[in-house]
Amino acid sequence: MHRSLRILIISHSDDDVTLIIRELHRNGYEPTYERVETAAAVTQALVKKIWDVIIACDTIPHFDISSGLKTLENSGLDIPFIVISGATSEEIAVASMKAGALDCILKGNMARLAPAIERELGVVEQRQYQTRMEGTLRHVHYYDPLTDLPNLTFLKERLQKTIITAHHESRSIALLMINLNRFSEITETFGHQYGDLLLKEIGPRIRGILHESDVIGRLGGDKFAVLLPTADVEAATQLTRTLLREMETSFLVEGVHLYIGASIGIAVFPDHGEYADLLLRRADIAMHAAKKSDLGYATYTSAMDRANPKRLALATELKHAIQKEELFLLYQPKVELKTGHIGSVEALLRWQHPERGILPPDEFIPLAERSGLINPMTLWVLGAAISQCHVCRQVGKPIVVAVNLSTRSLKDPKIIDNISNLLKTHAVPSQYLKLEITESTLMEDPRRSLEIIKRLKRMGVRISIDDFGTGYSSLSYLKKLPADEIKIDKSFIMDMDQEGIVIVRSTIDLAHNLGITVVAEGVESRDLMDQLAGLGCDEVQGNYISDLLSSDELPLWLIDTAPKNAKTIWRTAL
Ligand code: C2E
Ligand code: MG
Ligand code: MG
Repeated sequence: MHRSLRILIISHSDDDVTLIIRELHRNGYEPTYERVETAAAVTQALVKKIWDVIIACDTIPHFDISSGLKTLENSGLDIPFIVISGATSEEIAVASMKAGALDCILKGNMARLAPAIERELGVVEQRQYQTRMEGTLRHVHYYDPLTDLPNLTFLKERLQKTIITAHHESRSIALLMINLNRFSEITETFGHQYGDLLLKEIGPRIRGILHESDVIGRLGGDKFAVLLPTADVEAATQLTRTLLREMETSFLVEGVHLYIGASIGIAVFPDHGEYADLLLRRADIAMHAAKKSDLGYATYTSAMDRANPKRLALATELKHAIQKEELFLLYQPKVELKTGHIGSVEALLRWQHPERGILPPDEFIPLAERSGLINPMTLWVLGAAISQCHVCRQVGKPIVVAVNLSTRSLKDPKIIDNISNLLKTHAVPSQYLKLEITESTLMEDPRRSLEIIKRLKRMGVRISIDDFGTGYSSLSYLKKLPADEIKIDKSFIMDMDQEGIVIVRSTIDLAHNLGITVVAEGVESRDLMDQLAGLGCDEVQGNYISDLLSSDELPLWLIDTAPKNAKTIWRTAL
């Protein structure tokens, strides 16, 4: 079957055209073409019609190749540009390639034309596919699907950028954190559907009283935030009062008048914090204070931070947790879907608190980060995980152990030396250690992260990008990153709807294109595991595979349970 091909030929000779068309016919193409001779005619042709490929002959009197390429570049179109040269030496070929042509075919060697076109069309298709994918991913990563408002990722990035300009221009920025007062009452009374409809109304209502350059986003649940890029405390307070009045007015949802009201916390750059995370946290603290205040709003003060005695006590206790041996690791296996084999386990930290029982990492790692305890804590985790790796090797089950690395630890100047020393001490080869770094940690300082990761890779340590999908990293950045693995965040996996499937599929395609392995976390059922296998996912981890294993349980499980399950349960996922 002949394939159609629309060619714009830049040439002054009909002989060239005949030569080209004949060659393409011979190779199974059904070409349609137009011949032009001047740069102006090229521009016109590009506007008028869609072209698959442009072929320019280098012997036209009023036309030079580089101006043709410039015309194409200016049009913004992504069309392969191939030069056909009558010259007998490769010199001209080199010159046109330098000018930006994708290939140069010598007239004496026209057999190269069809394969060159084929190859370049493939490249364009791949590029267009990736651009589309990037567009979808970008929207998904930056917007809340329910309200289509910017999400936390968007807001954080925008805030950070705004901070940089505000810093240069010595002006202030205000951040308002808004929480609805009676939202849970409403969903309990009228159901979640009403709740969702109501949430969709909030954005437009607030938008109505904002300036064009202000940003409103939804941070999740019934929590919204507004970024005022040029406001000080007074301006922010004034707007907050107006906003509260607006929120007191009822919302009409499906014929029902709903009265909800809101509480608003205010934090201002630079007075209350000089970077995005801190401002967000402080606006949040102020919002909690606002809930208790009669005014319905509150501006952050440091007293609000100190007023949290529970947190203070925990920080002191955390300091002693390492010496008192209250920290321990649990291990979660990752299954390779094709083979059912367990290639690695992830180490997950727990704190056995003397009064409060076992605490999950989310309850103390942020605190450790803030109080500077994270580096000694990470060192402890690395030591324990590497020593566990050694134990598994000794019982004949060499597996890779993955350790989660937090933002501060990645930035720790001693981290590389520490890791290298620990590996030596426990006689574990570096490729048996994997570091899981979340996408948002990477993106906090992309250039620096890249540098550290390259150094770790040079050492032989493996790198995994954790919670992928929750912080948008650009394709070009991912390409530069020498990662071995991407872990799709469990929020996308656990309730995989139509949209989830698109995200998972495109992430897998993207990763595989870059030669990166894909792991799905949070797999709780057989169905999900089968579905992921069908989508081409390489590995899964989650409750369905195994409960979290203690350091005593892990070697036994690897010897006993894993080989049995590999044959009987896991491998059948194919
Ligand atoms: P993560 O690295 O994304 O780890 C996966 C989390 O999902 C773990 O929660 C795990 O217990 C949970 N999970 C795994 N499978 C399932 C499942 O099938 N269903 C459900 N519902 N949950 C599942 P965990 O242990 O609470 O850890 C939370 C986060 O804390 C981790 O997220 C990681 O970012 C961080 N973390 C854990 N250990 C450390 C550590 O040693 N150092 C640092 N810096 N962070 C750690
Ligand atoms: Mg992890
Ligand atoms: Mg994760």
